[in-house]
Amino acid sequence: MSETPARRAHNPKAPSKQHKSALEWMKLALKEAHKAQTLGEVPVGALIVKDNKLVSKGFNLRESKNNPILHAELIAIQKAARKLKSWRLIDCDLYITLEPCLMCSGAIIQARIRHVYIATEDPKAGACCSLYQVFNDKRFNHQPTWETGLLKEESSLLLKTFFKNLRTKKKTRSHGPLK
Ligand SMILES: [Zn+2]
Repeated sequence: MSETPARRAHNPKAPSKQHKSALEWMKLALKEAHKAQTLGEVPVGALIVKDNKLVSKGFNLRESKNNPILHAELIAIQKAARKLKSWRLIDCDLYITLEPCLMCSGAIIQARIRHVYIATEDPKAGACCSLYQVFNDKRFNHQPTWETGLLKEESSLLLKTFFKNLRTKKKTRSHGPLK
């Protein structure tokens, strides 16, 4: 009846030199978000990790590429699928600095991501725990587990500062109001 692959709790092996904690991975995702900011993009960064190894990373490139689907996590998912030569990202965990939107939440389910670490929630567009809770919907044949809060303050501050600066810029150019 269900194609749901067996899900396992996030349970990294015994710490080694290479072992990174979830917090350390999220720090790397935040680095990706900073790269987006440097390009004038909304600062969101993502990583995909499997067996405590980095598989792929990505940051938001929507403006630079004039492409509405180039969100950080979609870039990371596509890179991971190419690298692992499979669209099923079984046993892969996603680190994302902002709660995924509806499009990306759909892609996360499609890719069979195991667990999603979200830094900060997005009350305006989040589809994981804010506007929608799609990962909890048992009608889908895969439900990623998820959690929020790692580097929440840092990720949230980065976004708030970005939008504040954008508003100031727009004001000085006397453009219309920003949402
Ligand atoms: Zn998205």
